[in-house]
Amino acid sequence: MVEEKTTVDMETLVSLCKRRGFIFQSSEIYGGVGGSWDYGPFGVELKRNIKNVWWRDIVQRRDDIVGLDAGILMHPRVWEASGHVDSFTDPLVDCKNCKKRFRADHVEDEVCPECGGELTEPRLFNLMLKTFLGPVEDDASLTYLRPETAQGMFVNFGNVLEASRRKLPFGIAQIGKAFRNEITPRNFTFRTREFEQMEIEYFVKPGTDEEWHQRWVEERFDWYVKYGLRPEFLRLREHEGDELAHYSKATHDIEYLFPFGWAELEGISNRTDFDLRQHALSSGREMTYFDEESGTHIVPYIIEPSGGVDRAALAFLVDAYREEKVRKRKRVVLSFHPELAPVKVAVLPLLRNRPELVALAKEIAADLRLHVMTMYDDTASIGRLYRRQDEIGTPFCVTVDVESLEDNAVTIRERDSMEQTRVPIPEVKDNLLASLGTV
Ligand code: ATP
Repeated sequence: MVEEKTTVDMETLVSLCKRRGFIFQSSEIYGGVGGSWDYGPFGVELKRNIKNVWWRDIVQRRDDIVGLDAGILMHPRVWEASGHVDSFTDPLVDCKNCKKRFRADHVEDEVCPECGGELTEPRLFNLMLKTFLGPVEDDASLTYLRPETAQGMFVNFGNVLEASRRKLPFGIAQIGKAFRNEITPRNFTFRTREFEQMEIEYFVKPGTDEEWHQRWVEERFDWYVKYGLRPEFLRLREHEGDELAHYSKATHDIEYLFPFGWAELEGISNRTDFDLRQHALSSGREMTYFDEESGTHIVPYIIEPSGGVDRAALAFLVDAYREEKVRKRKRVVLSFHPELAPVKVAVLPLLRNRPELVALAKEIAADLRLHVMTMYDDTASIGRLYRRQDEIGTPFCVTVDVESLEDNAVTIRERDSMEQTRVPIPEVKDNLLASLGTV
């Protein structure tokens, strides 16, 4: 009898992430630091898998998008031209009593959410993190840690165009760190000061922009469903006029129903020709495309699907969480899509005090490891070992038992159904690769 619970509260998830090695608080031994998190052994695998499938789907399996890896540090004038120095601000209020700071749009009732104290009038606060290039800390050496990866792609538009000989429409894609001095980092890894983005800048002919915008909204929504997010936990929300960023003609957010409510996973904006025109104006360089059809130089419009790796990882963790009652005992499972699961296969000897079993299990693990992320574990009883693998979302466990020495076969246990199948050892690898969808 299996009773299922398919939602999780943040406290339970944060505790599972720490206990099992997905996510740790940054600098925990010093009391932690706000808005920064460390990904442990399984978290880093999850995050890499998300980035890898995104890169594969967006860059490697398409003919119209090329990749880029631009520097985090850029010329300070980039941030003037982009509008970030003037407009990348949040209104901020201080509590006169407890001195805590909040984003004005996060505070209801105009009193402090912590102590009920009186709040100051909102003041504008720039979200970019400042730093200095070189040994002298003066205005001439001031620059910023990039608050989005996008600008690296805009300023390289001409380089990429020339080097790759692309025709419109085409895109540039990038994955990388971004930094924002968020006033109130919160909700675990949802809002942090250091995070990773996966962004596409898709250059199109003016006039085709609305159609491409719509196509990208649908494509990006389907991408999250493809890798396992339940469609009923996803929705699209269009930005209202006063919510639109300074560069945007239209923005649609893909939102996920997190335990703390609906919140943005990815935004898809129609940035018009704003960015290329701004950089052309500011740098004095031409940033146009020669349109053979009309025989004129045009400034392409840009459609930008911009997602966060950390927010995606959090949504995949939340969505994968299942709690079941199996023979009166609680079973916690992370039902990740196999492509995202940190570990694909665990090889477990039924008895760890039998050297022949241990040797055979290690041999099988070593062979599998050449093909997929494989873990060997013999540090507990088999029940416990299964429980551990369920909690990190490993799709398959291979159990080596005493019989294996006789019949040269092992048991493969599937994570979600817990179904067990006996498979001859020479067939294990192909069987697993086929089930994982990697052949
Ligand atoms: P929010 O309204 O939540 O502050 P935003 O609209 O400013 O987000 P964008 O500028 O559109 O966010 O950034 C694109 C993506 O980068 C977001 O959809 C999100 O996934 C990610 N992202 C932005 N800010 C953060 C942050 N502070 N922590 C983690 N991820 C972030």
